[in-house]
Order: sequence, then structure tokens, then C-alpha cells
Amino acid sequence: MPVAHDPVFCGDRVLGDPRRLLAVLSQAYVAIDTAGQVRAWNPAARATFGFSFEQVCGEDLAKLIIPVRFRRRHRDALARLAAGGSGRLLGQRLQLCAVHRDGHEFPIEMTLAVTDEGAGLVFHAFVQDVTTAQRVSRFTDVEAAVSRGLLEAGSSAAAAVGVVQAVGERMGWPVVELWEADEHRQLLSCVARHQAPELSLGPFAVDELESGVGLPGRVYQRGQPVWITDLAADTTSFRSRAAARIGLHVAVGVPVSTGGTILGALCVYGDRTEDPEDTLTALLTGIAARIGQYLERRRAEELTVELARTKDEFLAMVTHELRNPLAVITGASSVLEEDLATFSADEQRAQLRTITRSAQRLSVMAEDLLDLARLESGHLVLRPVDTDLCMIIREAVDAATAAADDKKQVLLVHVPPRLDMRADPGRLRQVADNLLSNAIKYTPAGGTITVTAEATDRDGIVWTVADTGIGIPAADRPHLFRRFYRASTAVQRRIPGTGLGLVITRTIIERHDGSIGLAEPEVTGTTFVIRLPRMPPQP
Ligand code: ADP
Repeated sequence: MPVAHDPVFCGDRVLGDPRRLLAVLSQAYVAIDTAGQVRAWNPAARATFGFSFEQVCGEDLAKLIIPVRFRRRHRDALARLAAGGSGRLLGQRLQLCAVHRDGHEFPIEMTLAVTDEGAGLVFHAFVQDVTTAQRVSRFTDVEAAVSRGLLEAGSSAAAAVGVVQAVGERMGWPVVELWEADEHRQLLSCVARHQAPELSLGPFAVDELESGVGLPGRVYQRGQPVWITDLAADTTSFRSRAAARIGLHVAVGVPVSTGGTILGALCVYGDRTEDPEDTLTALLTGIAARIGQYLERRRAEELTVELARTKDEFLAMVTHELRNPLAVITGASSVLEEDLATFSADEQRAQLRTITRSAQRLSVMAEDLLDLARLESGHLVLRPVDTDLCMIIREAVDAATAAADDKKQVLLVHVPPRLDMRADPGRLRQVADNLLSNAIKYTPAGGTITVTAEATDRDGIVWTVADTGIGIPAADRPHLFRRFYRASTAVQRRIPGTGLGLVITRTIIERHDGSIGLAEPEVTGTTFVIRLPRMPPQP
């Protein structure tokens, strides 16, 4: 029967020179004697460990490529094998850790063989650097864990926690954070943080950052991945210094986005990373893309719920706010019709005034609805001209004085002589009227309303309208700028309103590149704070 041939061996004769084979082998080949000294070292070994044959020949292998903590174990095993001990290690694929000449450690797979060369045993090791293979499996593993987490999460909050945990635990990053920008895109909040149990984060653990500040803020502002290779050297950020103090050295952040809109940032912090920059960035970007898709899906779901809710609230608003003045008009007109002859001139005028007031309420409501539709669809064009905000405020205050006097309220105005800016004066007057009429409406008789405006250092203006009225409970605050939303304080007291004014106000301010929010109440009442640039960028 013919003997099976392979390209190198024919029976027990070697075809060609085995040294040539070892020279072209992609695996590292290392041979040592029983003393652990290097006897052979092929070119792939040079590529894997960084040493040339001349540098290692006759040297102790343990000192060259074995991490200090494993050297003793290596020498013991070698001694056992040299003494003819059990060949348990021989022929097995062993998973080990090696050191490169430059000092970095990496995972290897090694197969060991032994030959008796007469003068003594020789151990032949075939070594494969498995860094890339292990990284691929680690990355696949973390991607699968993230996808699973997102799929199973019952809420956005649970999804965020699942993501940071998967990335932290499976990639070995001591700190992983997911940051999301708020609706006005100025403040980032940390929605989930994973931290290694032994770490105490101290001042590093902040939960809010402005756009541009810290790694999350920078990633968010630039819309690009950001690497900090030495946190201690990053003097621009207090957080980097705080991170360095707790032993974190490197950090990477990637933007989380959907459909071209940046929603936040995914940031990881560690003591070191062996993964190449572009590979790790690609992994994190992939994970961030999944988070983006997830958030987009959730927002679509939330939008559907919101639409249904808006419809309900619109119906409720129409029922209450349209019906009431209509009922008043109908009632007063029929009374007039029936009793006109018996009414004195004063009584007739009183009935007519009631009708006019209710008709005005209806007309304001219709205007507000139309305005909102135009502003939100972007069909309303702003006409910015050189404007003095203080004049607009003073005129609005003059117009509101009669209503405030009726309720014996004090109207205080603290504004400089002029505040020049570029804006649509008609629209800013609408904002002033809305906030003032709300302040008067939601402040009981005898209260105080204070309007202030001043220039800030950064080419901006801060304008506030404060009152000592019924206030807005914390639970209502996040929803205040939603269409038709009315705070519980207003509803309980049956103060009429449509929940449209603030939405219009905010839209106008945002169209001027400004923002509007609520200041924390000091004791009672409500303070609206508007920030506007003096020179909004040209559309
Ligand atoms: P409206 O006043 O017509 O209801 P807005 O959009 O102007 O609509 O205001 C929305 C809600 O915000 C109000 O219903 C009220 O609950 C609350 N609100 C607005 N301004 C104030 C204020 N100055 N004090 C207390 N609550 C306010």
C-alpha cells in the first residue's frame, strides 16, 4: 500500500530544508534547551516579540518574553519536562500571556513539542499572537450584549444602564458614561454611569455639563470622537484632572446621533487601553449608532403618544376655553334681547362689555392657535431690525399697568436706558405681553411683578419676569412648554387659560437663537429667564 505523502514529509525523510520552512512560517517558532536558553528564533518570532535572533540567542527566554508574574511557573514546568515529567503540556494549545520588547503584554496561543537531540532535550514552541482574534471576539461579545440590552429594555433609562454596564464589564473599562443633551441643547445630563466597584469617583462624578465642557461636552459640541491619551495632561478640564487623581489615564468619547442630530455622547475612561485608537473608536461608534437608533425608535413611539395626548388636550381646551366665552356671549345677548327695554343704559353697557370681553378672549385664542401653527411650521418669517429691548419692555409694562392696578399689584421694572440688539420687535413685544399677562393672571391681588433686563459679558442679554404668585410645582415644570399644558396650580384655581402662550413665547425666543427657562423659585412665585444673543446669526 502506498504511503500517504504530504509536501514536507515522505515517510520519515524530510523533503527540502526545514529551516526554509521555519523562515517562511507565519507562526513564531522558538526553541529552547532544558536551561531555558534560546536556541532557535524564526523571523515571525522577531515580528511577534520585537527581538532579533542575535539579541536572544543563548539568553534566558523567561526574562525576554514571559511576564514577571509567570516566570516561576514557566521555570517549574520546564524543570518538570526536562526531568522527563508528565508531558501534559505537550501538543496542547495553551492560552498564555507574553511580553513584547516594548513592554506591552499580549495574549498568545502556544503549542509545545519536544525532541531529544542526543546532547539534550530541545523544546519547540509554535506561538500565535491572538490579540486581534481575542479583540474581535470581545467586540462581538460586547456588541451582542448591547443589542440584547436594548432589545430587552423596558424603558430608555433601563436601556442606558444596560449599555454602560455591557461596555464597562465586557471591555474592562472602569468608568463608562452615557450623556444626553436636553431639549434646548445646552445642557448634557449623565443618564447612566457604570463604575468599577473599587473606584470612588469623588468630584469626577458630576451629572450635568454644559455643551463644550469636559469630554462629553466636547464630543457633543464637535459631533466627532475625542481621545484624551493623558488625562493628567489635559489641563483644560477639571474633570480630566479629577479622573487622573483616581487613577484613570485615558478616555474616549463618541457622539450618539440619529438622522444627523447629535443627541449626546458615550464616553469611556480607563487606566490604559491596548486596543488601537481607530479600532476602538469604530467599536464605540457602532455601539453609539445602535443607541441612536434605539432612541429614535423610542422617540417615534413617544411622539405617537404625545400626538394622541395633544389631541385629547386640544379637545379639552376647546370644550372649556371656547365653550365658556361662547356661553357667556350667548347668555348676555339673549338677556339683552329679552330685557333691552327694561335695562338702564348702564346695565346695557355692562352686558355689552361682557360680550366684548368674551369675544376678545375667543379672538386671542384663535390668533394664538394660528400663530402657533405658523411658528411651528416655520412659515412665519422673523423681521430682525435694530431694536431697543428696553423700549419694548417699557411699552409692554405701560400696557399692562391697568390690569396690574386692577389687582392692586406692584409692577417693578429694572432695566438700563437702552439694550440694543437685532431682533423682530413685534415678536419680542408678544413675548413681553405673554409673560406679563401670565404674571398678573397667576399672581393674587397685592403681589409684586418684577421685570429686569441686562447685558451679559458674552454679547448676550438676560431678561427676567418674576412674580410672587401661585408658582409652578416641580412636577409640572418639565412639561410647561408643551402645547395646551396647564400647571396643576392654575387648573385647581380654575384660572382661565389655553396653555398656548408659553409655547409661542418659546418658539419666538428660539427663532432668535435664545432660550427660555424657569429659575429656581426662592420662596414663592415664578421667574422666567430669557437669554438672547444681541446679534443672532443671519438665517
Ligand atoms: P395659559 O396661561 O393660557 O394657560 P401659557 O402657555 O401662557 O397658557 O402657560 C401655560 C401654563 O403655565 C399656565 O396654564 C400656568 O399653569 C403656567 N404658568 C405660566 N406662567 C405662570 C406664572 N407666572 N405663574 C404660575 N403659573 C404660570
